Amino acid sequence: MNTIQIKDKQFKTFISEASILKEVTRVAGEINADLAGDNPLFISVLNGSFMFTADLMKRLTIPCEISFVKLASYEGTSSTGKVKELVGLNENITGRTVVIVEDIVDTGLTMQRLIETLRAQHPKEIRIATLLLKPDKLKVDLDIRYVAMRIPNDFIVGYGLDYEGLGRNYRDIYSVVE
Ligand code: 5GP
Repeated sequence: MNTIQIKDKQFKTFISEASILKEVTRVAGEINADLAGDNPLFISVLNGSFMFTADLMKRLTIPCEISFVKLASYEGTSSTGKVKELVGLNENITGRTVVIVEDIVDTGLTMQRLIETLRAQHPKEIRIATLLLKPDKLKVDLDIRYVAMRIPNDFIVGYGLDYEGLGRNYRDIYSVVE
C-alpha cells in the first residue's frame, strides 16, 4: 500500500488507476449503447472532473460534443448564504440530450442545483454520469444514470480530486487516514 502526505493529512491508496479505468470503460460502453444517434452534449463540471472527463471521452465512439463549466461560489446577499452560479455554458441546450460529467456526488446538493439551472433551458433530457458516488451521504432524490464506482463516506483525493487544491495529479484514488 502506498501512502502520501498532503498538508496535515495522510492518505492511502484506495482505488488503483487500472480499476478506475476498467469502470470508466464500462460506463463509456453504456453511454455508447444508450445515446448513439442523439448527439449528446457532455457538460463537464470543473475542476474535479477533468481527468474522468478525458478518460471517458477517449472511450466514446458516438457523435458527441463537450462543454466545460464551473460552479462559482459567492456569498449571497440574501439569507441563503453561499450561492453557486453556473459559469461557462455557451451552448444552447434547448431540446438537446445533456450528460453532466461530475467527479463525485456526496450529498447531491451541488448536482440538484446544477440540474435546476439546466432545466430552465428546457433540454430534451438530462443524464448524470459520475465517477464516484457516496450512497450513504446522498440527501436528495437524484436519478444518477451512470456511476463508475460507489464508495464509503471517507474523504478521497487523486484522479482529479483535491485536498485544499493539492493532489489532483495522482493517477490513483487515495482515501484519508483518520
Ligand atoms: P455535494 O454537493 O454532492 O455534497 O458535494 C459535491 C462536491 O463536494 C464534489 O463535486 C466535490 O467537489 C466535493 N467532494 C465531496 N466529497 C469529496 C471527497 O471525498 N473528496 C474531494 N476531494 N471532494 C469531495
